[in-house]
Amino acid sequence: MQNIAFIGLGNMGAPMAQNLAKAGYALTVFDLVPAAVGDAVKAGASAGKAVADCVKQADAVITMLPATEHSRKAYLAPDGIIASAKKGALLVDCSTINADAAKEIADAAASRGFAMLDAPVSGGTAGAAAATLTFIVGGAENDLERARPLFEKMGKNIFHAGGSGAGQMAKICNNMLLAIQMIGTSEALALGVANGLDPKVLSGIIAKSSGRNWTTEVYNPWPGVMENVPASRGYAGGFGTDLMLKDLGLAAEAAAASGANTQLGAVARDMYRRHAAQGGGNLDFSSILNTIAAIS
Ligand code: NAD
Repeated sequence: MQNIAFIGLGNMGAPMAQNLAKAGYALTVFDLVPAAVGDAVKAGASAGKAVADCVKQADAVITMLPATEHSRKAYLAPDGIIASAKKGALLVDCSTINADAAKEIADAAASRGFAMLDAPVSGGTAGAAAATLTFIVGGAENDLERARPLFEKMGKNIFHAGGSGAGQMAKICNNMLLAIQMIGTSEALALGVANGLDPKVLSGIIAKSSGRNWTTEVYNPWPGVMENVPASRGYAGGFGTDLMLKDLGLAAEAAAASGANTQLGAVARDMYRRHAAQGGGNLDFSSILNTIAAIS
């Protein structure tokens, strides 16, 4: 597989595509935002004029789109990926979307003879840039093996979660936990600061104590505690609150469908909703700290 189509060059897709280009793959890219395509072309990619044009010569198609409706449209539209891809191409959706929709898209692909994987990722924009992402894959094991060389250029850990949709389900569970952890870390830091502690000192203590988690180790929400995280650049870039809200909605749907108890997930969803309504939707999700600190 040498010719790769990459669709969706946002906060995650752009650095992922760049790592594939660096590894020597011939990339054709498409995004609705011309500037994003322009940046990828500067880094050596060819520009596709539209989805169909982007995928027609590709041995593998990778999509990194915001949400379920975007993936559905990109794959299922009459001029979409399934209608336009080259015979035998491997289709890989790295977007985080509804697990049932992932299955439906994979079934539609299979009915036209295409193998498809759902392969959402974890690790944030820093992981995308450093090629240290975790790929959480649903689909057939032999298709994962075909995709493995590509995943290895963009990530470090590759998990086979199960059949079609299982990658999405595992990713949604992970992100619900992340959303809860970010709130917990923000509350702990706001409590400490309200009681005279230095947020950097407190973060250092937590990072080596039993309260530690990803948000204290590599993604601290308090401005100035860590370099190179969204909190230290006005919460720009990173993983948007609106995208986290989307994932909490997917978790709520899955919980309702299966009868699973996700009380903290529901509380977290309410809190991020309130934060988005107060203007935090486009900011990185760690900006939930502002809503929490403003209340305390
Ligand atoms: P983003 O909004 O920054 O980028 C999405 C890109 O898709 C945009 O550039 C948009 O123009 C493009 N797009 C939308 N519809 C399109 C279409 N029909 N054709 C071509 N391009 C189209 O989002 P992101 O932060 O890169 O996230 C992408 C996915 O990865 C989401 O599902 C998100 O949940 C998931 N994710 C994000 C992070 C993160 O830290 N940002 C981490 C893990 C997973």
